[in-house]
Amino acid sequence: METVYLSLGSNTGNREALLLRALDRVSAYPGTDVVRVSSIYETAPVDMVKGTRDFLNLCCAVRTDLTPFQLLGSTQGTERELGRDTKRLPPDPPLYGSRTIDIDIIIYGRRIIYTRELIVPHPRFHRRLFVLGPLSEIAPDLVHPLFRLTMDELKYMLKDRHSVGCRKKTDYPRAGKRTI
Ligand code: AMP
Repeated sequence: METVYLSLGSNTGNREALLLRALDRVSAYPGTDVVRVSSIYETAPVDMVKGTRDFLNLCCAVRTDLTPFQLLGSTQGTERELGRDTKRLPPDPPLYGSRTIDIDIIIYGRRIIYTRELIVPHPRFHRRLFVLGPLSEIAPDLVHPLFRLTMDELKYMLKDRHSVGCRKKTDYPRAGKRTI
């Protein structure tokens, strides 16, 4: 079993309901328990096409028997199931379209993976307050396996340089049941 951190975001439809439905799906993956969930944050879109609505974001910690690629398959299945239309995305980053639900694998134990389909730790999360805000709430002392900095330290460094809006919106109603 490994401890894995996921980032969930939504900026269309009933954003909060979509986040909670996605969490329910994650907790139903085989051999997987959601052990910690952050508050929900409202965040300004980053690297998005113009006119996109603000996001709701949260992070969760899961304990799972799934391999990284099995987990990616499951999260992509959940994205499809909850209506994410990948065909409508512009072909190339850095600009992205709106999404009903986006699930990223941020950290998978101490694994370092660099393939076409999956990069872990997620290659951009350390620059994104919409991930570091919720993640440092549930795992402030978690160390980035490559940078050897904690989530709190990464967030502090980011705050110095950027002022991306990221404000706590609501407590996750079922948060804090278990700690890891
Ligand atoms: P996005 O539009 O940000 O959800 O990116 C989706 C694409 O990123 C998919 O093709 C995934 O295979 C790829 N990807 C690479 N690394 C990760 C990761 N750590 N978590 C989720 N998707 C990833």
